[in-house]
Amino acid sequence: MEGRSHLLVGLTAGVVLDSVVHLTGDPLLGVKGITIGVLVNKVIYYTMVGFGALLPDIDNARSTFGHKLGWISKEIQHLAGHRTLFHSLLGLLIGSLMALGLEQLVTYLLDQRGLTLPAQFISATHLVFFAVLFGCIMHIAADGMTEGGVPLLWPNHKRFGFPPNPHWRFCTGTWPEFVIVWSFMILVGVGIYTSIIVI
Ligand SMILES: [Zn+2]
Repeated sequence: MEGRSHLLVGLTAGVVLDSVVHLTGDPLLGVKGITIGVLVNKVIYYTMVGFGALLPDIDNARSTFGHKLGWISKEIQHLAGHRTLFHSLLGLLIGSLMALGLEQLVTYLLDQRGLTLPAQFISATHLVFFAVLFGCIMHIAADGMTEGGVPLLWPNHKRFGFPPNPHWRFCTGTWPEFVIVWSFMILVGVGIYTSIIVI
């Protein structure tokens, strides 16, 4: 799947997750006083979900994320190949470790800028960790719907996907990708809209 699609799927799924479990704290709508802390949490949450949604394609030098990393991506792609390590459970483990490091960094930077409350919130709830991991999982799940599938148990080369029959899945960059991604977004949009109207 293209980076753009991954970003859209990750972020819309992130909206759903946040509206169900309120990871970032109180919802913005219906809250009396919106504090800077809540806003910072939300910005960080969505940035990190977006980052996680692009992260597994670190092994593709031509991807959105791979472009930014240049030789690092080329090296990973050269050593392991595209859609291998970072599209597996082992890759999720590595992603989790990276997310934990990133969480420390974000907490430190916020603290430095005097934003102590969001910093405390992030280290207490592991907001960054869950957001990055969730983004990665959504990426692998979305790639699982393409013809190639994903090697979940890499280094074992068996590829998994949904639906199980690869002929029912779609090819990256073809029209079904856009139809699926956009219908998903529209459904989420309608869901959010109606839930606001009902409230
Ligand atoms: Zn991918």
